Amino acid sequence: MTHRHRPWGYQSSPEGVAPDWELHPDTQAIRAGLARSGFGETGEALYLSSGYTYESAEQAVHSFTDEIDHFVYSRFANPTVAMFEQRLAAIEGAELCVGTGSGMSAMFAAVACLVEAGDHIVASAAMFSSCYVVLAEILPKWGITVEFIRGNDPDVWAKALSKKTKVVFLETPSNPMLEVVDIAMVSELAHAAGATVVVDNVMASPILQKPLQLGADVVMYSATKHIDGQGRVLGGAILGSFDYIHGYLNPFVRHTGPTLSAFNAWVLVKSLETLSMRVHRMNDNAQLVAEFLTSQSKIKSVNYPGLPTHPDYEITKRQMIGGGTTISFEFNGDMDGLFAVMDKLKVIDISNNLGDSKSLITHPASTTHRRLDPAVRAELGINDSVVRLSVGLEHSTDLIKDLEQALAN
Ligand SMILES: *Cc1c(COP(=O)(O)O)cnc(C)c1O
Repeated sequence: MTHRHRPWGYQSSPEGVAPDWELHPDTQAIRAGLARSGFGETGEALYLSSGYTYESAEQAVHSFTDEIDHFVYSRFANPTVAMFEQRLAAIEGAELCVGTGSGMSAMFAAVACLVEAGDHIVASAAMFSSCYVVLAEILPKWGITVEFIRGNDPDVWAKALSKKTKVVFLETPSNPMLEVVDIAMVSELAHAAGATVVVDNVMASPILQKPLQLGADVVMYSATKHIDGQGRVLGGAILGSFDYIHGYLNPFVRHTGPTLSAFNAWVLVKSLETLSMRVHRMNDNAQLVAEFLTSQSKIKSVNYPGLPTHPDYEITKRQMIGGGTTISFEFNGDMDGLFAVMDKLKVIDISNNLGDSKSLITHPASTTHRRLDPAVRAELGINDSVVRLSVGLEHSTDLIKDLEQALAN
């Protein structure tokens, strides 16, 4: 459908009115995709409509054959969802974007549309637990094999990719241990093996890391995290080339229906306007909090890609702006002691969400990652003394004071 790749708003901004220079992503975040109705509203309109009408039976036919640009049904496309998709594509620097109802529907569709029985997937092992369940339990039921890899060793990746591989899936930085995968290195090896590289870029957000520029083919998001970032709606997105979206993804999602609702898209399109500001501030706060945590005797180790002590600090500096908005750390003590510290926090909330304007702390082993096999959890380093802290937009001095008082006896 042609309206999916119109680079600038329509109706209010005909082709001739659009700027003739390339806009900065921060400007795209405010302007791209804007489709004003005839009322000239400033705020993006919320088009709550499941279907669309036609002026004639013939117009309906031409709409279905894509000869004219006309919405046909909101499972396929909706004007508010299209605004979100075009705006996020402009920020990411992707040809096209498809919005989905959640991050998990984005992850599943992004991978499932590429594979069939007999195909092989290679994945970086450290990932969000539902993504792990899709790869380790669901897809294998349909005759797809999956191999999990750890670390940044090119020899290990090359060996895994010496087998015919359809998809390489990776999350970087990973949730919750903040392992970093070298996207450029893996993409080069994956392409030599004929594989499509899908990156879960949730933890970095489109502001801190651009996987497509580093060589990846497809990027997926849980828009629930930084993109909404204010704890309101679920959403997801998949970004990639025209060929991937039209050749693989659309034929899959149009009929399986993981559609993003117009209301959620309307919330998310406004969130994109402040995404850059929010993520930069959260990233700066996280750096300060991570530095503070390294000085605490009750903390055994701090995992944060922005600290020079992080094993992949050099790769992080190459492929990301900053170390991200999330920190994990290992408490010097048992789980009861750690729970007592969490319970003493007065500003930071106990919650398993992340990327929110509110700072949130969670105990992955007993919540988000409890679904993992204990052996896999141990292998990933997610022990009972590890917590994940998603750093929000509060002033950093209050976050540090809060942690300081909770860690004091
Ligand atoms: C939350 C999350 C997802 C899943 O997103 P939902 O919107 O909860 O479905 C996928 N990957 C990562 C890294 C996440 O943090």
